[in-house]
Amino acid sequence: MTDRLMIEGVAVSPHHYIGGKRVSSPTTFETRSPMNWDNLLGNIARGDGQTADLAVTAATEAFPAWAALTSKERAAYMHRLADLIEENKEKIAIAECMDMAMLQESLELRLVPRGALNFRNYADLAVEHEERVWDSKGTHNRVIRMPAGPAVIITPWNAPFMLSTWKVAPALAAGNTVILKPAEWSPLSASLLADMVDQAGFPPGVFNVVQGMGYEVGNALVNDPRVKRISFTGSVPTARIIGKAAAENVVPFTAELGGKSCLLVFEDADIDAAAKKAAGQYDDSGQVCMCGSRIIVQESIAEEFEKKFHEYTDKHIMGDSKNGDTTMSAMIHPTHVERVMGFIERARENGDEIVRGGKKYKEDGLWVEPTLIKPKNNDSEVVQSEIFGPVLTFQTFKTEEEGVALANSTVFGLSGIVYTGSRDRAERVGRAVRGGTVWVNTFLVRDLTAPFGGIGLSGLGREGGHYALEFHSDLKTLQILEDSTS
Ligand code: ADP
Repeated sequence: MTDRLMIEGVAVSPHHYIGGKRVSSPTTFETRSPMNWDNLLGNIARGDGQTADLAVTAATEAFPAWAALTSKERAAYMHRLADLIEENKEKIAIAECMDMAMLQESLELRLVPRGALNFRNYADLAVEHEERVWDSKGTHNRVIRMPAGPAVIITPWNAPFMLSTWKVAPALAAGNTVILKPAEWSPLSASLLADMVDQAGFPPGVFNVVQGMGYEVGNALVNDPRVKRISFTGSVPTARIIGKAAAENVVPFTAELGGKSCLLVFEDADIDAAAKKAAGQYDDSGQVCMCGSRIIVQESIAEEFEKKFHEYTDKHIMGDSKNGDTTMSAMIHPTHVERVMGFIERARENGDEIVRGGKKYKEDGLWVEPTLIKPKNNDSEVVQSEIFGPVLTFQTFKTEEEGVALANSTVFGLSGIVYTGSRDRAERVGRAVRGGTVWVNTFLVRDLTAPFGGIGLSGLGREGGHYALEFHSDLKTLQILEDSTS
């Protein structure tokens, strides 16, 4: 097995990174570029139970010394890592773009810098943390935040670099050691992160990457009783499997799962801005968990909105994600394209109206045309299931109550988007829409200290800011009887 793959001039290791060393596996899996499926980027080490054992052992051995450092000492490593991410942002963007087809420009300008910021923010937040100290009932009390132990972090294939750093940074800042298992459809950027961790001089075993299938190495990792935290982003069925492993070992577990978010537009909204944002939900071919995939518009403005929506959607360009003009990237994998096309076919059979799109863009490529569906009714599968592709639904409502009821009519609750010109309505509907995050008249603007997570089948627990630091810590209340010590 080669030592380094060359991805458009960027050298990426296909091996695991365990205990500060590159480790290979006897078997491999392929990673291909979604922009050209014939382009085999390389063969990646396929971890198994033994690999998982090696990684958890390394993380367990490295834990006491890493946990014993002060937050400030850990912060120094994390800031060095953030510097390296910033220096290498172009390389990371190239490798990630080739691996999973997210637009290279948005990776370089937005998502990779966000990765660096994740490490900086958590480094500083952990240093700023103060223990709670108070006196009561004759005792002097403190709440102490203690590192918990090795954390397993399992990430999905969409925005893998940003999402990995978002989850790894709080774990490291809290004093935990980490084993990161990236998705098998987008393994490359995690390997680059391991190079930068190495270069930043982190002690061996503090951060480890294992590659491979979820049901093999991922399953072995989450079942290891030495693991003290599990942080997962992915699908509901996998969350159920991992949740059982977490329950067996009584290990705290966070799960950020799917969504079926609304884009709810009221007659008092800036219709043009709302229509533009709605057409923008096709960016990244809709492979975004927060995507406002259910457009729900007040009847009085539906016609005008739809006209503008089509005008904006017409401007989308499907193509190579390295090209700055492209707005809709290729989809991740042929299997995923077939899955998305299956939803469209079943919608046709169900009698839902395919208003636009509904076909592959090219038979031999991984693009699906931006598709808009008017469902037969609210029970249609395309309204109720997460599609994770460029497929939006369009529904209308008469009254605010009706609009909110439609918005809240799925099992999910990750996020929501509301367009209104009324401050009162913004407050009222913003509170009423079911979701861990609701945006009014904007989308994707995030303060990294705010909590993020889902309600219902969209997930369990919160990440972001001190919420993630708390998740990765064991809290202790220490009580000392007053005047009993000198
Ligand atoms: P998606 O639908 O986004 O691919 P999955 O839940 O299938 O979501 O995968 C998300 C991540 O979970 C991937 O890294 C995958 O390898 C991992 N995974 C899948 N099955 C398991 C499992 N049984 N145990 C641990 N990790 C798993």
